[in-house]
Amino acid sequence: VPPALPTRPTSRSRRPSSRRSLPVSVKILFQKLRVWCWPQNIQWELGRVQSITGENVQIILSDGTVVRVPTENILPANPDILEGVDDLIQLSYLNEPSVLHNLNNRFSHDMIYTKAGPVLVAINPFKKVSLYGNDRVSAYRQKLTDKPHVYAISDTAFNQMMRAILTHGLLHSGESGAGKTETAKIAMQYLAALGGGSGIENEVLKTSSILESFGNAKTLRNDNSSRFGKLIEIRFATSGKICGARIQTFSFEQSRVVQRAKGERSYHIFYQLCAGAPPRLKEHLNLKSAREYDYLNQSDCLTIDDVDDARRFKMLMEALDVVQIRKEDQRSAFAMLAAVLWLGNISFSVIDNENHVETVEDEGVTTAARLMGCGVRDLMLSLSTRKIQVGNDNIVQKLTLSKAIDARDALAKSIYASLFDWLVEQINNSLEAGKENTGRSISILDIYGFESFHKNGFEQFCINYANERLQQHFNRHLFKLEQEDYTQDGIDWTRVEFEDNQECLNLFEKKPLGLLSLLDEESNFPKATDLTFATKLKQHLNSNYYFKGERGGAFKVCHYAGEVLYDTSGFLEKNRDPLHIDFMNLLSSCRCELPQLFGRNMLNESKKLLSPLRRLHATDSQKQSVGAKFKVQLFKLMQRLENTSPHFIRCIKPNTKQLPGIYDKDLVLQQLRCCGVLEVVRIARSGYPTRMTHQQFAKRYGFLLLEDVESHDPLSISVAVLQHYNVLPDMYQVGYTKLFFRTGQIGALDDARNQTL
Ligand code: ADP
Ligand code: MG
Repeated sequence: VPPALPTRPTSRSRRPSSRRSLPVSVKILFQKLRVWCWPQNIQWELGRVQSITGENVQIILSDGTVVRVPTENILPANPDILEGVDDLIQLSYLNEPSVLHNLNNRFSHDMIYTKAGPVLVAINPFKKVSLYGNDRVSAYRQKLTDKPHVYAISDTAFNQMMRAILTHGLLHSGESGAGKTETAKIAMQYLAALGGGSGIENEVLKTSSILESFGNAKTLRNDNSSRFGKLIEIRFATSGKICGARIQTFSFEQSRVVQRAKGERSYHIFYQLCAGAPPRLKEHLNLKSAREYDYLNQSDCLTIDDVDDARRFKMLMEALDVVQIRKEDQRSAFAMLAAVLWLGNISFSVIDNENHVETVEDEGVTTAARLMGCGVRDLMLSLSTRKIQVGNDNIVQKLTLSKAIDARDALAKSIYASLFDWLVEQINNSLEAGKENTGRSISILDIYGFESFHKNGFEQFCINYANERLQQHFNRHLFKLEQEDYTQDGIDWTRVEFEDNQECLNLFEKKPLGLLSLLDEESNFPKATDLTFATKLKQHLNSNYYFKGERGGAFKVCHYAGEVLYDTSGFLEKNRDPLHIDFMNLLSSCRCELPQLFGRNMLNESKKLLSPLRRLHATDSQKQSVGAKFKVQLFKLMQRLENTSPHFIRCIKPNTKQLPGIYDKDLVLQQLRCCGVLEVVRIARSGYPTRMTHQQFAKRYGFLLLEDVESHDPLSISVAVLQHYNVLPDMYQVGYTKLFFRTGQIGALDDARNQTL
């Protein structure tokens, strides 16, 4: 059976039925049409219809083979003339094999950019393509070319910003390795070239490389995978020159600092520091080679092919200077990095038969304490014990081995995450300082796309929730665009329908019976486990159409991009903010300035959220949960996006090998569905994707009926042609200036035209 669009509960009833004037089978035989057929359950093949017997069609494939397939396994293919069109909307037939074929055709000619109506599709070439550089920039700047390109979409945003709408967004999405970060950089380079001259553009460009050092890592999917989402707002002066920027990051992956899959690395900066620190710094930090740190050596991967970490460290130090991070702050930041590494080498000895531990006083703990600026004893104690308040009494509890290791890792993760936030703050201070704010800006969003793996955990849960929101933004915006065009031309647009995913968002956000609320409730309950959480979900949500309880601790959510199976193991632990108040106190007492800063911030944050009464009984479970924080960040992001005029860029990974020249159709199709490109096509399809002015239409098809087209009025000719060729009235609409057609209607006319010409 050919692959179908992922099923969604509400879609079927709303999808427009494909009414045609003739039965499909008769039509394709009559016209000996090119078709897509599905002969061997492997993939769609292109062929030409030879004959039809009963329910079967005989087709000759492009390589000469003859196959028989049932009529339902056939879809119309586009005429040759539409091979490799710039915009998918120009295709007469918008079915999946046609879209895939068109993209493949372009990809094989290094045309990696294609439009899908208002959306730009970018396929990762995994090699250098000659599409960039000064000549190309000026070609787009001077409108010498209209080929789809990130430059073109950036140019549109820039021009609109200068003329009318002040704030714009270039929104990149796609799965890991699809090219979001590279494409975002290419857009930034174009904008820097347009708005250059002040010198700030250089600072703005350099921020990317700093953030990559601290926030990117080698994963199995991408050697330079960003482990955080970011929004860079580039601000422009009235003259069009770049005058400042502001970065907002969210949902940083902390767990990578202490553990990850085999063959992956921690953040680049650790390896760069170990390989490239100059001798004095090395001595000050008591720095060893990467292989000697447990946090780095555990995943059997210390280097990346063709990457020189030492050289990258030199470039990083230069970049830090360019964005004016003070030398002493740089040194403190490096000290914190080394402290994290040394924390990972701290070990514990078991002291009783209940597995309670003491921290071993070795090089690890003494160096970590020195770098953080706290007492060795204080650090040792805070790692192996925990103060808890019972009523008005303070009780010191010894930790078991596994709890102590968790506590150590939690401290390392928080220090690194705080360092990352601090760095972003410093960069922002430098990019914003004393700059005028004219309200003109172009924001570039680079955020992880929808993820569905064999096993999906809390991270995927959050990521997919964010994508559900972004998809809603995408749908609503594109729908609005459609409406505007129809309204302007005075046609009846009420028939255009689109699918809103609000119901699925409600499943996540509803209080008190939504996924996030129920998760928080269970996280606050001391005796709860991941399994009790799963049971609770099933109890309350099983009647929800978008939710399905599964066996064990699993559940399914019916996302816009398909069903995802989540495994609740680890949900509660990951949702609780892991840093204990003892650590915050420790950090805020540090002599070294940076950890103090982190500790103070975290303390303030947690106190703010607690009522005075609850603060008395403060335990870590009462701080704001990770899920709740994520939701707040997401809402802030959406608020920013609501106020910008969006331009969508959907990045596609053509293969999982990170190699050039390979186009894996299944993989591409799966992404086209997930990132909503087929949705756009579907929205367009449920409306009137083909638009032509009355004049254009009369000129193109009038000769099919009349010799002398010029002497009649274009609209009359148009309507006569449509009636003659049996295009039913509900397949098109007549606007003030244009004719609007549903998908596939023009295809038949084009065939008639080709046969006549
Ligand atoms: P993502 O951010 O989506 O995870 P990246 O932007 O990091 O993916 O891209 C992964 C890799 O693909 C890059 O390191 C680069 O080698 C390659 N790549 C992506 N886009 C391009 C492009 N336009 N031209 C050449 N190579 C690219
Ligand atoms: Mg990235």
